[in-house]
Amino acid sequence: MTDFAATKSLFHIPEGVIYLDGNSLGVLPKTAANRAKEMIEQEWGEMLIRGWNDAKWMEQPERVGNLVARLIGAAPGTVVMGDTLSIKVYQALASAVEMRPDRKVIVSDNGNFPTDLYMADGLIKSLDRGHVLKTPNPEDVESLINEDLAVLMLTQVDYRTGRMHDMKRLTDLAHAAGALVIWDLAHSAGAVPVDLTGCNADFAVGCTYKYLNGGPGAPAFIYVHPDHAKSARPALSGWLGHAAPFAFDPDYTPAPDVSRMRVGTPPVIQMTVLEEAMKAWDGVDMADIRKRSIELCEQFIAGVEANCPMLELASPRNPQERGSQVSFKFDQGYAVMQALIAHGVIGDFRAPDVIRFGFTPLYIDKGDVDGAVKILAEIMETRAWDKPEFHKRNAVT
Ligand SMILES: *Cc1c(COP(=O)(O)O)cnc(C)c1O
Repeated sequence: MTDFAATKSLFHIPEGVIYLDGNSLGVLPKTAANRAKEMIEQEWGEMLIRGWNDAKWMEQPERVGNLVARLIGAAPGTVVMGDTLSIKVYQALASAVEMRPDRKVIVSDNGNFPTDLYMADGLIKSLDRGHVLKTPNPEDVESLINEDLAVLMLTQVDYRTGRMHDMKRLTDLAHAAGALVIWDLAHSAGAVPVDLTGCNADFAVGCTYKYLNGGPGAPAFIYVHPDHAKSARPALSGWLGHAAPFAFDPDYTPAPDVSRMRVGTPPVIQMTVLEEAMKAWDGVDMADIRKRSIELCEQFIAGVEANCPMLELASPRNPQERGSQVSFKFDQGYAVMQALIAHGVIGDFRAPDVIRFGFTPLYIDKGDVDGAVKILAEIMETRAWDKPEFHKRNAVT
């Protein structure tokens, strides 16, 4: 059994804050600052260029990839870190599209995070070969899986509602139709159990600053099925994805494995903080995370529905169809979230009317949920949200 009191003690949570936004930006691991200082002073400061060998910065993207792999059901050597999630989406999609040269349809859904759709659109324009991107409602994806489909590109857990796709079923259906599948695990890695190997996914991507607590701008990850890793052509053919970067060969030969998805020099400081953050997952079982996450979400939904009848549940009621977040709709959701934040409960707002709460069992417990419900109930009952300062829009919501 995972010891959640022990995992909670690994993180810094500001005094007076109940943090229900770990699905957007995870909290700070207590040891991260020291590790960053040590890396900067001892490795960068003292080793200088020797750090690439002596501190093993060069293989860090694969080393950290293996830590992430364990949480998403991927075998060692199938995941590599680097760049941002938007870039990894582009790479995965470019490779997958090229593997189905006779097909022109890419299917995602209209609940996908916009950057995934923007990257697909940009790729289609660059290719200029007549590809189309279709974005049905999430529940209608299946109806577009047919012999025209080149690539199914979905985010498993909808960032707005928390609705979760059935990865295994959709992957099987797409494969039966001869298509490839890319899963975006932005709201899955560290949030719900994922079995990439078991569902035979072709590609997967995700970020590490959400449930994995790697800090703002932490590098993304990409998984490539071992059968494709030897053959998929990386569209971004950077030198660190080369089979022998230090041969300085003028011709590009990709690495024989997932390392071909590396592009350029990795952000070593940020990667080191992420590597430190991943220690919190030592001995943590994703099945325990899931069980606890469902308990916390159910407790929150019950509390909010009992106390705030004006809020409408925007997430699936069935916990099996929901990720590790709960959303409610309210016309004045933006102001409600600002009032909540002013009262120490941090969640976030997604236009047009969704207030969103992430539940991260590593550091959120039942007492936090009770506290959050109580404060939300009071804000709704007293209309404390209806003040001019809570209606003023910030750039980041
Ligand atoms: C958070 C998120 C992103 C963010 O992409 P970045 O390049 O890291 O800014 C992309 N896609 C999904 C589905 C997300 O949830």
